[in-house]
Order: sequence, then C-alpha cells, then structure tokens
Amino acid sequence: MDLTPDQAALAVERHDCPNCDAPAGSACRTRGGKTAAKYHTPRFVLVPALREELEIPVPADRLPGRVWKQGPALAVSCPRPAPSGW
Ligand SMILES: [Zn+2]
Repeated sequence: MDLTPDQAALAVERHDCPNCDAPAGSACRTRGGKTAAKYHTPRFVLVPALREELEIPVPADRLPGRVWKQGPALAVSCPRPAPSGW
C-alpha cells in the first residue's frame, strides 16, 4: 500500500467504526473495553486505499491492549448537533 502505518491509522480514524462504535479520532476497542490491536475490517474498508488490506494494526502510541479512551475529536469532522428534545 502507499500509506505508512501511521497514515493508514489516521485515514481509518477519520471514520466512525461500524463494528465497535469507536468515534472518529479514536482507535478501535474490544468488547472488553480495551484498545484493540488492529482496526476492525468494516472500518478500514471505508478507506479506498486500504480496501485490499487484510488488517491494519493500531499504532503503539494508541496503547493497544490498554484501557480504551476516546481520542481527541477531529477538527475536520463535522460536529453533530446534540440531540435535543428526546
Ligand atoms: Zn472498531
């Protein structure tokens, strides 16, 4: 692929994960609430350049295997208005 692992991770993290609901800007998480070692397939196939990849590892600076924490919100993502009146 053309992307470095860091670039690939950033590209994946521009999307919310359909699998674990990790929001854009955050790594994937496991069911146990830990940071996953790799991104979920349904998430990274959203990036056309990564569609052919079998797996995309989560970079070590996201601390895979440790307790998952939401990353900083991305400035580029459109903030969704908070639901009101529900
Ligand atoms: Zn995920």
